[in-house]
Amino acid sequence: MSITVLVVEDEPAIQELISYNLKKSGLTPISALNAEQAVVMVNNVLPDLVLLDWMLPNLSGIEFARQLRRNTRTQSIPIIMLTARTDLDDKVVGLEAGADDYITKPFSPRELVARIKAVLRRRVPEISDEIIEAGGLKIDPTRHRIFAYDDNKATEPSEIKLGPTEFRLLHFLMAHKERVYTRAQLLDRIWGDHVFIEDRTIDVHIRRLRKVLEKIGKDYLVQTVRGTGYRFSSEFEASIGEQ
Ligand code: CA
Repeated sequence: MSITVLVVEDEPAIQELISYNLKKSGLTPISALNAEQAVVMVNNVLPDLVLLDWMLPNLSGIEFARQLRRNTRTQSIPIIMLTARTDLDDKVVGLEAGADDYITKPFSPRELVARIKAVLRRRVPEISDEIIEAGGLKIDPTRHRIFAYDDNKATEPSEIKLGPTEFRLLHFLMAHKERVYTRAQLLDRIWGDHVFIEDRTIDVHIRRLRKVLEKIGKDYLVQTVRGTGYRFSSEFEASIGEQ
């Protein structure tokens, strides 16, 4: 899965240096030379992360970060601020404007990539390729495979076959286990932005997913939280009375 990073930076040399290093580490950079350009790009496609220079012509990085945070469509995009300033007050302003992290120029490309990956792991765990184990299931995003264990791991794990949407749904819920998501949030995060489908579609895929899990006695992992939405939880007790 390609991970796009919108790089908003008005200095072409730095823009180029960043793009080169992001590509080298497997990320997909898209470039904007000012915040106005970035606004148009974000309106078209939501990036997975925004790397944002503080000092930009016209609309400043801080103001752009605030705009992203104010809009429900863009409020959860991770933002890393990039700046030449070392003032602690500026850092506070940046974080208050909604930035997830802050990098001071000059930075080493290696540090930059490490910080981007750390923010992505924390904020968007479902786009990471890490293997996740929970509730006796093991999901391997790179190989696109899911395995189930019996409770005491006495027998060999068995592979579970899911359709692509059910796979993404389960991966998302497992990456954010114990957290409840509304249908609208799941549509946004799994089907993507600008996709107009009914909330009911989610229920259809949840039902399909549970049906597969039911065969191995694990359908309780995908729980309905009445009046709210769905969650993945390995706490069996919590699901009673909510199905
Ligand atoms: Ca600048």
